Amino acid sequence: MSVSAQYILDHIDEAIDNGCIRAFFQPVMRTLTGRICCAEALARWDDPENGMLSPAAFIPVLERHERIYRLDMTILQQTCMLYRKLQDTEAPVHSFSVNFSRSDFSVPHFFEDVVNTLRAFQVPHAAIKMEVTESVMFADQERFHSVFNAFRDAGFDVWIDDFGSGYSSLSMLHEYSFSLLKIDMLFIQSSTLRSRQLIAAIVNAGKALGIQTLIEGVETEEQMRFVKSIGCETIQGFYYSKPLDEKTFTAYLSPDNTEPLAEKEYWNTVGSFNLLSPNPMEDRNGAAAFQSDSPLALIECTWGQGEYIYVNDAYMESVHSLGFDSIQDLELFFNAKLSTRYHSMQNMLTEAVMTETIQETEYVSGQVFYKFRAKCIAKSRELQKAMVVASLSTFKEDRELREQTDVVRYGRLLYASYEHVNVVFPDKDSSIRVFSNANFQTAHQLMPLRDGIRSFCEKEVHPDDRSRYLRFFDLDKLDAHTSETGFIQQGFRILDSGRGYRWRQVRITRASLAAENIYIYTIQRMSDVSVKIAEMLLKDHPELLE
Ligand code: C2E
Ligand code: MG
Ligand code: MG
Repeated sequence: MSVSAQYILDHIDEAIDNGCIRAFFQPVMRTLTGRICCAEALARWDDPENGMLSPAAFIPVLERHERIYRLDMTILQQTCMLYRKLQDTEAPVHSFSVNFSRSDFSVPHFFEDVVNTLRAFQVPHAAIKMEVTESVMFADQERFHSVFNAFRDAGFDVWIDDFGSGYSSLSMLHEYSFSLLKIDMLFIQSSTLRSRQLIAAIVNAGKALGIQTLIEGVETEEQMRFVKSIGCETIQGFYYSKPLDEKTFTAYLSPDNTEPLAEKEYWNTVGSFNLLSPNPMEDRNGAAAFQSDSPLALIECTWGQGEYIYVNDAYMESVHSLGFDSIQDLELFFNAKLSTRYHSMQNMLTEAVMTETIQETEYVSGQVFYKFRAKCIAKSRELQKAMVVASLSTFKEDRELREQTDVVRYGRLLYASYEHVNVVFPDKDSSIRVFSNANFQTAHQLMPLRDGIRSFCEKEVHPDDRSRYLRFFDLDKLDAHTSETGFIQQGFRILDSGRGYRWRQVRITRASLAAENIYIYTIQRMSDVSVKIAEMLLKDHPELLE
């Protein structure tokens, strides 16, 4: 509904007096939790003649004629009243943002009026966030500066509204300690890559300067996901809620969807973490390095030669851990045609330049395992050169080696469940002792396999079991005996040093993978029940043990 400027100017005082100017409230959500952490107060004019008027119809007119002050103070007052009312409910909102016009800053008693209004409703200064647009700073700079400082000193937060829409100047980020950048909805609502990159750059800059960020005008899930992905802390828009009249807003609040005061500081600190930083772990509000943590270099490639033209600190560290004192030493090394790495290095760079895909190789040099990656970022046929971005990561230990160590370590646990493990090579007439926890004489091991079996039988196996043992471990018949199940297994009484003979389970397993004839020979303890069964069998049905 459009009404004339004159109508606005003629009726504004009456509208305020009659309570027709009302604050609506739009929730501001904490991006990470999806809970309400603040609400913005937005003016609505409920006109008896023209119905509900939106700010676009009256704010610009009032601003032009410097009649906005009373309205702003009315909205502030209604906001403070709601703040006070909510404190007695189970889901209070602890922050509200209120819009102020640039001309407000020229009103001599502005600061006192705001402070008195808050005092009247016992609202802490930290609870009211003052939203100002960029334009305020271009009015009376000096005046703005001193009022701004008065508010900051009194514990108020001042936010920049519609950041990026007007005459943004980076110098104002430099000069004023704003606590939050409210990024104009223009950017999120244009879904181009360029606008997304711009938003990410603003969030990154905000975090680096220790300024919180908020993206307004979020309407879709896709936009919400993007805001979340770049780590922008707070979010506002129709996706969550439109501005609501006071009654609807109050009814909407619940302990589940509202951030408790006790968590505010915590989430603000979490929010200050910059996920977009090149060095997020080290970076606290941009105090750390500007360089990436990952080792990066630029290598210019001409025919058969590569020249480093940029290396960051992390890359240099990798170069040092490979044993080179300087980047020139490394360059000489891989440019020298006689060097062991020359061909593989040049092939890789050539491949990177020709295919424009990421090339990757891994090497071990001494104790150091390293991974080199390269990607062409620019090339000129005319100049006959190309630029390659490279990364060089080093690891103290070869990863494969580490995996092998694990296999050995855990394999040991498996062996330890046996008393004795041998690998037997009948064709070579030999065997290897892999593991032994039993005190068998080592002499058997040193003999040729057939002699060793006989010697073991005589020295370690119970006299009554010896002939059965030799029939069991008959190398000429192993193949036939194991052909069906892959293994043979029997109990024998075997010497346990100092404790006489004990029943043990002996098993010979054919190692099916090997091309050559290999068997795994294991000795294992037997449970009491198995021992009884073995003894019964031996007594009553010895034929079953053959
Ligand atoms: P603003 O402060 O930037 O407020 C955000 C505007 O965007 C609001 O419009 C809000 O309703 C709208 N909005 C919020 N989420 C979405 C969304 O997802 N999509 C779209 N398309 N719009 C969304 P509204 O209430 O019409 O206010 C317009 C402007 O009027 C405000 O912009 C603010 O600059 C000014 N304004 C409103 N209330 C006051 C006030 O009490 N005092 C002063 N000085 N200015 C006010
Ligand atoms: Mg605003
Ligand atoms: Mg705005």
